[in-house]
Amino acid sequence: MIAGKSIQEWKRSHPLIGDLVALKETVWFNPAVRSAEEALRDVKLSADDKNEASARLDRFAPYIASVFPQTVPTQGFIESPLKAIPEFQRALGSRYGLELPGSVWVKLDSHLPISGSIKARGGIYEVLKYAEDLAIANNLLNLNDNYAKLDSDDARAFFRKYKIAVGSTGNLGLSIGIMGATLGFEVTVHMSSDARQWKKDRLRDHGVIVVEHASDYSAAVAEGRRQALQDPRCHFIDDENSTNLFLGYAVAADRLKQQLSSAGVHVDRDHPLFVYLPCGVGGGPGGVAFGLKLAFGDSVHCIFAEPTHSPCMFLGVYSGLHDAVSVQDFGIDNVTAADGLAVGRASGFVGKAMQRLVDGYYTVSDDELYALLALINRAEGIQLEPSALAGAPGIARMLARDQDGYRERMQLTPGILNNATHLVWATGGSMVPESEMNAYVSRGEAILAM
Ligand SMILES: *Cc1c(COP(=O)(O)O)cnc(C)c1O
Repeated sequence: MIAGKSIQEWKRSHPLIGDLVALKETVWFNPAVRSAEEALRDVKLSADDKNEASARLDRFAPYIASVFPQTVPTQGFIESPLKAIPEFQRALGSRYGLELPGSVWVKLDSHLPISGSIKARGGIYEVLKYAEDLAIANNLLNLNDNYAKLDSDDARAFFRKYKIAVGSTGNLGLSIGIMGATLGFEVTVHMSSDARQWKKDRLRDHGVIVVEHASDYSAAVAEGRRQALQDPRCHFIDDENSTNLFLGYAVAADRLKQQLSSAGVHVDRDHPLFVYLPCGVGGGPGGVAFGLKLAFGDSVHCIFAEPTHSPCMFLGVYSGLHDAVSVQDFGIDNVTAADGLAVGRASGFVGKAMQRLVDGYYTVSDDELYALLALINRAEGIQLEPSALAGAPGIARMLARDQDGYRERMQLTPGILNNATHLVWATGGSMVPESEMNAYVSRGEAILAM
């Protein structure tokens, strides 16, 4: 029984649950979605909170440039390129047998400096916030200082007295571990069974304590939380509930707005922007979507993508059960090659805050993720990890069928769709070792050849 109903009863009251349980690729556009103005009221955070996060990242830029020389060209900002991908758009159209009007772009968070994934936004931001709070409270720093002074033995010795703990499927641990250890913190990362070996090796090279768990993400997080609670000098980074992580992700939107405008891409009600975001626990895509709605209002449409084996956000929002349900409760195994998305229970905070703001949800099979990985490598020479491809079929899913009456409800006429910009948020991959990347590509090529 799940929330008082059997799985059979759930399938009757919510027909798409049958497809999700059967691991079919599934699409749902949420009829409860409201205008940006109305939906943003559900989020207990404001534009001021997002601006404060942005200002904090500005303050840290001189420090980041000092400790991570690869960020000198961007003046200490951790930001990724935006790129048009017309060859991939053509390849997608022929793969799905569809005409794909508008233009497809990719946001290459896969190539964010320091940790090569979207977690270099939220994860690093929360570590910096913790460091700033501690340093200011202990008179080591004030808001007007040049933060490059934190790149010193004194500062590192100070931070060494404090600890950070986190549970992760890999990329969050990588971001927090590298950033935390660089500042001087003692960092412990609780890794779920999905975590790739190279991510654990890389962290240990940075002096991070890596605890390996045989279980999935939720259990790794629970163990991290339990250990940290016993130690007042330990800050637990709570991926399931953290508003700091969320705000760190949200800052991406204003920067994207500038990039689009520099690239000559116009966004308004008649030139909508569709953004396809891979979703794990929900903080990353949720934070980005929150920022996007603040930046573009009703002109942006956010759609979340998950693996067929881990549709936790889709299931949570569609059933209304949010974090009261896990995919395993419905017999879905949460085993996927998309390790960044291998989450069985969504963040309740994000699902509830965002439920009237995210237009839709869809699932992608692991085979399709691999096929798309090979296809974007062929078409554009871009190398991504499997999780990062979840957003790639989004345009085709949005244009293919409209059993939810979505396009009509949103007044997305053919004329407007001709003017649309579609953005695939590519969330990770540039740090994947070459041998592993070659194996990903061959696997995808084999699927394309079938
Ligand atoms: C973490 C992650 C995501 C999703 O972020 P959540 O906050 O877990 O929803 C997407 N792609 C990659 C590669 C990730 O590491």
